[in-house]
Amino acid sequence: MFKSLSKRISAPISKSLRTAQPARAFSVHEHSSVELFSQNGVAVPLGFVATTPQEAFEAAKKIGGETVVKAQVLAGGRGKGHFKNGFQGGVHVAKTPEEARDLASKMIGQTLVTKQTGEAGKECHKVFIVEKKQIVHEYYFAILLDRSSYGPVLVASSFGGMDIEGVAAKDPSAIHKLPIDINKGIQLSDAEHLASELGFKDSNKQAAVDTMMKLYELFIKSDATQIEINPLGETSDGKVLCMDAKLNFDDNATFRQAKLTELIDISQVDPRETEAKKWDLNYIGLDGNIGCLVNGAGLAMATMDIIKMYGGEPANFLDLGGTANEKTICEAFKIVAADPKVNAILVNIFGGIIRCDAVAQGIINAVNQQKLTIPVVVRLQGTNVELGKKLMKDSGIAIFAYDDLKPAASKVVELNNQAIESRK
Ligand code: GDP
Ligand code: MN
Repeated sequence: MFKSLSKRISAPISKSLRTAQPARAFSVHEHSSVELFSQNGVAVPLGFVATTPQEAFEAAKKIGGETVVKAQVLAGGRGKGHFKNGFQGGVHVAKTPEEARDLASKMIGQTLVTKQTGEAGKECHKVFIVEKKQIVHEYYFAILLDRSSYGPVLVASSFGGMDIEGVAAKDPSAIHKLPIDINKGIQLSDAEHLASELGFKDSNKQAAVDTMMKLYELFIKSDATQIEINPLGETSDGKVLCMDAKLNFDDNATFRQAKLTELIDISQVDPRETEAKKWDLNYIGLDGNIGCLVNGAGLAMATMDIIKMYGGEPANFLDLGGTANEKTICEAFKIVAADPKVNAILVNIFGGIIRCDAVAQGIINAVNQQKLTIPVVVRLQGTNVELGKKLMKDSGIAIFAYDDLKPAASKVVELNNQAIESRK
């Protein structure tokens, strides 16, 4: 959701940069977010997490009355999603604890596909059982980081509920945006202004203002990059409650957010990203079929652009960063090569701190260890480049080596096209 909304509120950014964005953030499950809200004085419905249908039964019994059974996967659009077993919807109302148990049994252990997960979907290992509140109005409320105002922006709409992207597309004026000066922080008048614009009932305005102020405090102190609540519910008994919570946090702040990183559910993260992190590498999955091994984000962008210029599409890029060595380069190469979509690999390294001979040896080791047959194009420049080239030549491995990026990119696209052609 951050992707689609930020597209509307930000200055245009390159598609490749936008695709790369999620890797800078990590997110946690709704039930963890709700707990964070609760700890910070933000009103939420009573809820318990369940990993088995029986636990769902017991949770619903403890809550009493009707409950909402919610699939815990790291993606939005659960309400309108479907499970691969054919069961429709990742959010359901249960009238009785027995019904909660039955619903949980159809969700736990299944894969939920929503418009944000793509075809692959996300595995659902637990459900969140919450008390069902009588909602009289559903709002949308989010705090995002906005490029055009260089800071946080409050985004809200009185047309909350399911499909905020649809609302934004149909009637942009229904989305209210309020940039916040990050140095001054949120002012009471900001929140009051927004609550009035949204049309909160007078009796509930104070609760809405209070919620916005507290969410902003949490946003700042947790190094969040996104807090999204849809719906923010106004109840018949005069309360304002966060009925849903999607939080993302800045990956670069993990060193001071140890508590938050403990909440990360590894089952929801692309395993290649996790593997890359283990070696201090940055992996970004993309949609094409040319694997890219590069060092530095700038070189990564240039590499992707030139591949596209020659008519190819990158399958991923793996940024070695500055601390790579022969061992991590070998692991990096294995990660890129392990993607079944990858037909050919382009290595584009400018050896500065990383020496070209270490890059060459890392690649040779990976190819030998994994008995890889994928064609590899290498463009090396910089420290120890001659030694690197000699190593590759002497290894006997079929590597296409180039000094310049253009012929290297053209070659890798050609090899990719050949692979596609030969499968026809
Ligand atoms: P999403 O589809 O992933 O954003 O999941 P939501 O948590 O927003 O659930 C989808 C829809 O179910 C919401 O738009 C609400 O209308 C409804 N819903 C979700 N949670 C609750 C809840 O706690 N109480 C009630 N009454 N409705 C809820
Ligand atoms: Mn929602």
